[in-house]
Amino acid sequence: MSELQEIYLVLVLIYLSECLVWVRPGETLIGLVLGKLFPRDFRGVFSNQCGGLRFTNPLPPFGHFFITIPPELCLSPDSVSVPATASPAALPESIRPGSGFKFGEIREIGVDGRILFVNQAPFLKTSSSYAALRLARDLRFLADSPAEARADLMQKRIARRFDKEALSAVWADYRSKTKVLESLAILLLISLFVLAPLAVVHFGFHPALPWIAAGLLAQTVTISVIFRKLHRTFYPDAVEELFKRFLTMLLAAPAAVRAVEILGRRLLESFDPLAVMAVLAPGQKFERLAGEALRQGHFSPALPSQNPDSAACEQWHRAVYLENLEQFLTSHGYNISQLLAPPPCADPENRSYCPRCLTQFTLAQGVCNDCGGQKLLPLFAPLPGLSERGNDSNSPPVRK
Ligand SMILES: [Zn+2]
Repeated sequence: MSELQEIYLVLVLIYLSECLVWVRPGETLIGLVLGKLFPRDFRGVFSNQCGGLRFTNPLPPFGHFFITIPPELCLSPDSVSVPATASPAALPESIRPGSGFKFGEIREIGVDGRILFVNQAPFLKTSSSYAALRLARDLRFLADSPAEARADLMQKRIARRFDKEALSAVWADYRSKTKVLESLAILLLISLFVLAPLAVVHFGFHPALPWIAAGLLAQTVTISVIFRKLHRTFYPDAVEELFKRFLTMLLAAPAAVRAVEILGRRLLESFDPLAVMAVLAPGQKFERLAGEALRQGHFSPALPSQNPDSAACEQWHRAVYLENLEQFLTSHGYNISQLLAPPPCADPENRSYCPRCLTQFTLAQGVCNDCGGQKLLPLFAPLPGLSERGNDSNSPPVRK
């Protein structure tokens, strides 16, 4: 392999690394490629308990990728708490699931990167710096609002996760404002991987280099400047994140090619993944994701009994959230009872299943430790002919 080929191989690898996205537990990466949706969670080949690497479409005109995050805090008219389901890996050291504050106790709310501070102490490590800024803004607004208005404000905040009109407006705004940037990114991709190598082959490396460098620099500067303007429009508070991204794009052409994807990635994160998919691909149904969301809403781990305020807060939040989720699913033609039905029996010896994760057990009674002690439910006797499905690789996992 010649020196030039090696340089290009490195450039391709750098570009492909720009197409990788880190997805955290609870987040959903939604890809829209040529009109088809590809929802993915963090679990993949390169994953651990903190998250996983996922690959996004390397060709800018043919795909968009969005990350959505679950509600990171439970909010009730009186207090705010960390959900019982929060992963310890996502929390600052001093904080445990179930920790919380009454609104009257909150004096100061701050943000440092992904960390949300309450009264100058770390309270939550959020999915992104955008999420931390948004949560801080919402909490300040709610803390300053009259106590009697909070219930209504919070219900509206939860309902907004499923608000298709608001979502469609954000999506349409993003598409119209990024059209020029997308064309420039495609041009840069072609310049980088087609025109530059052709120029080197035709004119030789040294004569072509100044022209290639000048051409790429002009394009990356233009893209970076437009990116900066749009980033300020879509994420007005995220100054630190903008500086980091802007500088990376100025210095690296492969990063500038990803400008549109980077702008959109966190734009829909506060919406529910099912609502995002309903807007991006109207008419398509996602039974598995709908069932998972519903089961997690109905069968959440036990609430922390040592902190009654947090337990009440989480109970209020769960009830409002579940009501909105069920309304959304029903209005989109999903059948709630079918989504909550027991799974097909994977083995004739199985007697029970966990209604949260659908793992099947040979025990008649017990709890699922993976789901915070969720009580097992009886599994219906297998219908004739279904026992062969025990060897089906798509069957749910089985525990003894
Ligand atoms: Zn379970």
